[in-house]
Amino acid sequence: MNNGYFDKFLMIDLSSGNSWEAAVPDWLKASFVGGKGYGLRLLYDLAPPQGDPLAADNVLMFMTGPLTGTLAPSMRACVVTKSPLTGTLLDSYFGGSFGPEIKYCGYDGIIITGRASEPVYLWIDDGRVEIRPARKLWGISTLEVNKTIKEELKDDSVKIACIGPAGENMVSFALISCEYNRQAGRGGAGAVMGSKNLKAVALRGSKPVRVWDQGKFLEAVELAYRELKDNPDIKSLTLTGTASSVPFANEAGVLPRRNYYDGVFEGADEISDFGQNKHLWLRSDACTGCPIRCSKMGYLRSGRYRGTVSDIVEYETAAMLGSNLEISDVKAVTHLAHLCDTLGLDSMSAGGAIGFAMEAAEKNLLPQQRVCGHEIKFGSVEAAEGLLRAIALREDGPGILLAGGVRRAAEKLGVQAEQFAVHIKGLETPAWGPRGATGIALSLMTADRGGCHQRGMPLGEDLGGVPWQGRQVDRLAVTGKAEIVIHHQNYLAALDTFVKCDFGTFGLSPATYLKLYHSCTGRSLEGEEGLQALGARIWNMGRLYNLREGINPAEDTLPPRFGEPLPSGPCKGHSFSRDDLKTMVEEYYQLRGWTAKGVPGEETLKKLQLTDTFCRF
Ligand code: SF4
Repeated sequence: MNNGYFDKFLMIDLSSGNSWEAAVPDWLKASFVGGKGYGLRLLYDLAPPQGDPLAADNVLMFMTGPLTGTLAPSMRACVVTKSPLTGTLLDSYFGGSFGPEIKYCGYDGIIITGRASEPVYLWIDDGRVEIRPARKLWGISTLEVNKTIKEELKDDSVKIACIGPAGENMVSFALISCEYNRQAGRGGAGAVMGSKNLKAVALRGSKPVRVWDQGKFLEAVELAYRELKDNPDIKSLTLTGTASSVPFANEAGVLPRRNYYDGVFEGADEISDFGQNKHLWLRSDACTGCPIRCSKMGYLRSGRYRGTVSDIVEYETAAMLGSNLEISDVKAVTHLAHLCDTLGLDSMSAGGAIGFAMEAAEKNLLPQQRVCGHEIKFGSVEAAEGLLRAIALREDGPGILLAGGVRRAAEKLGVQAEQFAVHIKGLETPAWGPRGATGIALSLMTADRGGCHQRGMPLGEDLGGVPWQGRQVDRLAVTGKAEIVIHHQNYLAALDTFVKCDFGTFGLSPATYLKLYHSCTGRSLEGEEGLQALGARIWNMGRLYNLREGINPAEDTLPPRFGEPLPSGPCKGHSFSRDDLKTMVEEYYQLRGWTAKGVPGEETLKKLQLTDTFCRF
């Protein structure tokens, strides 16, 4: 009986070629539950303090949660490592079937250290581990890797996570691609994989994931499906994916345009679900065991990019490679998104880096103003395409300049460029311009992996009219946002131990998640307060790690761009002063129980039972 867990990690040292199984310590399971919790605690314990993310001793972990691989809907898997882009912790989530397959191989996670002396891939077949040569896979795209490995293993059902050329070249925002169209996108986990000379991990498993109480679990699953079916937000996700957020963000004045200079874009409809449906979509698709089916498979039937097969261009990508670059041709945006996927680049950071380069070129700050013969300027699809290839291959000129991300590029170009370098702690920000919403701003400033939209952004409260504790929220209020942000950050951190999909949280209630967890594992989290306490423990664990790695609390802020007034839209004229940001962060630190310097206080750590126990395998 395994009750949702196998209680085993598969450990692989690529330097020696050894692999072994390690038992999951009881205290780790009790305090950190799975997924993000396991990953952050192990990162703290196993990675050397202030180590180089691209050194052999960085740890690369593929983690699951207790509900991964069960009938619980909308569950995923995550990669945890130290980010080469930010120098902070990195947990990046992906759907598809790779996560469940880790469980079917009999593990709760796979932990990889060391560096192979030449390109390799891992073949894990139901617990048997083989390190295979991958010289012939080096240099090929993520799609080709999938196809080639499946042919070599003579099994089309094998589940594969791999990197593209960007990961091989250790581009700081290279992604890990999981089965064609699911990516662990943010923060550069693909570069860590490339630094280990690891092109891919292929899995095949047959072990069943058992649950503690089958009857109760099936009841909880039924309830979860009903909640998802009845929820209007989920219905809209099923119909349009996240692309329908483009007109919403545009109307709210927070859609990035021209490297976040503005918050509205006249071409918004074209790059949204409206334009995509017209030109692209053929059918809906889903990750394993997800009834939401937010994915839309598409095919470009005509024009310059004819023949491109693509998944939905989801909101973040549509905005970062579309409106942010002033490109409104949805077929071109689809083409750019597809290029990112096959080259192995995070489309969000790529859009941020290209937007930065276009503005730098406009201000005559780039040493080379052209790429592949095309002038680097807003609206140029050819320049955007040239830059994507140059970055992935680390070509001389703008390729090398941008391959380290916006922060490093701005440092090289000088003070003037730093004024429009849009990143927080090195992570290019998401497509939600914070000038129109102070809660969103605070959540980006304090997010644990740098400016990230998946760490408790109060979108509903700031922009959607969702009340907070019975009262309406003023989207531009500087105070009163910290408690909302902290609540959401804790809640999502707790659910990331189950490794849920963010979209599932739009439809499933906390009580249902708790029922799923309890009936699956036989363990209990003591209600919503228990979820908050678990989330707070993980959040503080992450903060301790980030402080140890040298982040400066002064980086809990917004980039200078958002100190400039918005030129148009419903929040025209709004900007953040240094005093606004200071007030917001001070309130946040105080409610978190952190010192004025942003360090978790002793009382806080004691209350959260963050002990000195360490994992050593
Ligand atoms: S909602 Fe979409 S991304 Fe999330 S698990 Fe379902 S299909 Fe995958």
